[in-house]
Amino acid sequence: MQNKKILVLKGDGVGPEVVDSALMVLETVAERSGLSFELDFSEIGGIAIDKFGNPFPEVTRNKLKHASAVLLGAVGGPEWDQVEPALRPEQGLLALRKTLGVFANLRPCKIYSALIDNSPLKPKYLDNVDFVIIRELVGGIYFGKRDTFVQDGLRTAYDEERYNELEISRIATYAFETAMQRKRKLTLVDKANVLDSSKLWREIVAEIAVDYPEVDLDYLYVDNAAMQLIREPKRFDVILTNNIFGDILSDEASQISGSIGLLPSASLGETIGLYEPIHGSAPDIAGKNIVNPLAAILSVAMLLRYSFSLIKEAEQIETAVNQVLQDGFRTQDLALEGFIGTEEITLEVIKRL
Ligand code: NAD
Repeated sequence: MQNKKILVLKGDGVGPEVVDSALMVLETVAERSGLSFELDFSEIGGIAIDKFGNPFPEVTRNKLKHASAVLLGAVGGPEWDQVEPALRPEQGLLALRKTLGVFANLRPCKIYSALIDNSPLKPKYLDNVDFVIIRELVGGIYFGKRDTFVQDGLRTAYDEERYNELEISRIATYAFETAMQRKRKLTLVDKANVLDSSKLWREIVAEIAVDYPEVDLDYLYVDNAAMQLIREPKRFDVILTNNIFGDILSDEASQISGSIGLLPSASLGETIGLYEPIHGSAPDIAGKNIVNPLAAILSVAMLLRYSFSLIKEAEQIETAVNQVLQDGFRTQDLALEGFIGTEEITLEVIKRL
């Protein structure tokens, strides 16, 4: 029998709260389906700096070797703003992603009919909005060479955006395969009018497209893509893009659906999958029982689907979340009044399971 061992990294800020909600939901699904998951816990980010002096400590690295999937909350916070750049909490997350080789970060964005009024867009633009951003996660500017120095008496800094053809082709192939299972439309988002790295992305994506004649491929410059996401989001099916553009566009996309607290993610690649909400550690609302845990709960659904092929169980979670929203339950990010807390909305999801 498959070993269903999940390494849980709660992280900082709201991370522990949303992961606790997600684990309650996982436990309920397990009980109801007769499944068992073995949970292991470790530290990442700021809390790992405090405990071990390293945002991605050896103990966490070692535990990865025995895990079949990783569930993560979020990292970072003002407490660690003064830490030297190489040891910041976010560096722990980057190192984790790199270690796992999870090059494909999937960020689905869909509209819940119950939340149409939460979107800043008019309802007529929201019909049939259902797309996924596939963000390259282990290359590009977040991992490139960087330096800060004084040149000609001026403070100077640079960050290098570098991709090789292997890094592009593996995620492009993944994006074409995903498009084949969806509406067969793929949009490459880049800045090929200016950047050499983007030109290489276009070249390689065009080469791979030959093997996928059924996929309707188009290209958008990232500035235009940012505009089109708001102007006509339903035009998108699969958006393929690099690390930094994907990071920025997915926060924008989250607003179309109503809140950043709704968007889960799966990061897949060479070994085991990593699952986390797309939001950060939200230190401004941490510890107050007001954070929206649905993105983390939906990340568990992605974990069940992608790491364990438990499609029925994944759909049960997604349906329960949808029903909670249909039944009018809202966290503070989704309502000006009459909202309920993190724990309360988690219990509503569990009731519907
Ligand atoms: P953030 O995503 O943490 O928060 C942005 C805004 O959205 C805040 O006002 C926050 O209160 C709100 N928000 C976020 N998630 C929410 C949720 N689930 N429910 C309700 N409201 C929510 O981004 P930020 O403020 O730019 O960054 C805070 C810290 O998180 C920084 O240290 C940053 O580096 C880190 N960060 C971590 C990750 C990660 O761990 N994957 C991602 C982004 C930012």
